[in-house]
Amino acid sequence: MQSTMMNVQLTTAAILRHGASVHGAARVRTLQPDGAVSGATFAEVGRRSAQLAHALRACGVAGDDRVATLMWNNQEHVEAYCAVPSMGAVLHTLNPRLSAEQLAYIGNHAEDRVVIVDGSLAPLLAPVLPQIAGVHTVVVTGEVDPAPLRHDGVSVVGYEDFIAGHPETFDWPEIDELSASAMCYTSGTTGNPKGVAYSHRSTYLHSMAACAADGLSVTGDDCILAIVPMFHANAWGLVYAALMAGADLLMPDRFLQADPLVRLIATERPTIAGAVPTIWSDVLNYLEAHPGQDVSSLGLVACGGSAVPLHLMQAFEEKHGVHIVQAWGMTETSPLAAIARPPASLAPDEQWALRATQGRPVAGVELRLVDDEGKELPHDGESVGELQVRGPWITGAYVGEEDGEKFQDGWLRTGDVGRIDERSFVTLTDRAKDVIKSGGEWISSVELELLLAGHPDVLEVSVIGVPDEKWQERPLAVVVVREGNEVAPGQLRDFLEGKVAKWWLPERWCFVPEVPKTSVGKFDKKRLRALHADGDLDVIDI
Ligand code: ADP
Repeated sequence: MQSTMMNVQLTTAAILRHGASVHGAARVRTLQPDGAVSGATFAEVGRRSAQLAHALRACGVAGDDRVATLMWNNQEHVEAYCAVPSMGAVLHTLNPRLSAEQLAYIGNHAEDRVVIVDGSLAPLLAPVLPQIAGVHTVVVTGEVDPAPLRHDGVSVVGYEDFIAGHPETFDWPEIDELSASAMCYTSGTTGNPKGVAYSHRSTYLHSMAACAADGLSVTGDDCILAIVPMFHANAWGLVYAALMAGADLLMPDRFLQADPLVRLIATERPTIAGAVPTIWSDVLNYLEAHPGQDVSSLGLVACGGSAVPLHLMQAFEEKHGVHIVQAWGMTETSPLAAIARPPASLAPDEQWALRATQGRPVAGVELRLVDDEGKELPHDGESVGELQVRGPWITGAYVGEEDGEKFQDGWLRTGDVGRIDERSFVTLTDRAKDVIKSGGEWISSVELELLLAGHPDVLEVSVIGVPDEKWQERPLAVVVVREGNEVAPGQLRDFLEGKVAKWWLPERWCFVPEVPKTSVGKFDKKRLRALHADGDLDVIDI
């Protein structure tokens, strides 16, 4: 029997129409360099998005042309999020922390035609631009000298001039919900970045999952501080979720250091925020060094991208009244796939134990555990295997690639290794490429890191596997000690004693001023391994 329901397509235009009309009074607010916060209502953003769409049409954007953004989190970027996919083109968010070589590779691979660039990032784009063959127009936001961007066949125009004079409504076309709305490249921790193309449908459904009470519980009474960059996996869905629910969006632009963030939180009182653990760890240290700052408006902080140390969550909750919720996902999964929200009926200790996991899948996402031979493993909290995932907002392929290896029978192989318990809570023990294999047995680098991060003298810690003659590999703990503190490797080893199997205890230690980070703020183990291989780490053997 055929259903009697209307076949209305799930598109970003529907999200935009809803946000700009039903929630027209909600606001996008952006932190300015002078510390002021500028704002526009969703209704105004809707009108400016229509102007942007007209301007893009007028400059030749047609069909599914790719329009790239090289921007921070701000109002103009939200306008691009609204206009570009809703007019049928494809929004391609570029990560400004990538190397010029990677940006050129991605720009060509995605076949970008237009780049909207933040004025502050124009110097980064200038040398890359001649290497991206298809770009015909560059639109620059803010006050900036466009001269360095000019070269043959490329017109350069200021954002406000570009959209000025165009009509404030746009007849958003009917779009097949399965067509691409946006694309994002994995940050390339392993090899060349791979492109993921989201659909209108996947974006719509993912935004609903983000809004859900058991997701990030976004309502019209919220103000969302989107710290996670809009070029990192769609800012975790926060932008479209805000438009759907009518929550205000608070955007930090390029000011992602603890000092401006804490001031922004204390004065603007956001209720929801999202960022990777290294940002929250910086914020916590700042709060400790600058007592008296009130960040308790944050009722829910979504945190993920790498494992969230328990002590970080506990310190925020106990000292600052901030509830951190761990979530797990990937660029390939839009990204929200699992969230650690334990049943409220459990005892506090049990709740903390589950909050330290990567969570259980949100409705729409299925997870399974698979061994090396591709056989499914039980969800018994003990069996360890690779996590595989499927669902309507999980990618089924990479752009322009037939990468069979990353997929198995319609499931995405995540490259993450871990366990799933009877209640479906996932504990990641490692990424497959970071696993330490010592004497034929696995040592979880993540578990060692999470434990060491709980030592009072440790500011940052990353554990990598290094070659060992006898055991093939042994763990090397790379530690940043808190300013003004001192700690010996033996003390750190004693701290771990009894918490992990004896043979996990690292004998190699290294103290550094800072652990190198990836382009999305995670500890960069690839770089650490290279530094070690080149003999650039001073290793203490105890
Ligand atoms: P990259 O692969 O370059 O880091 P992504 O941001 O897509 O780019 O990273 C996805 C990966 O991040 C996951 O496969 C997983 O290894 C890691 N990750 C995400 N969330 C968590 C989490 N809560 N705990 C541990 N690891 C996480």
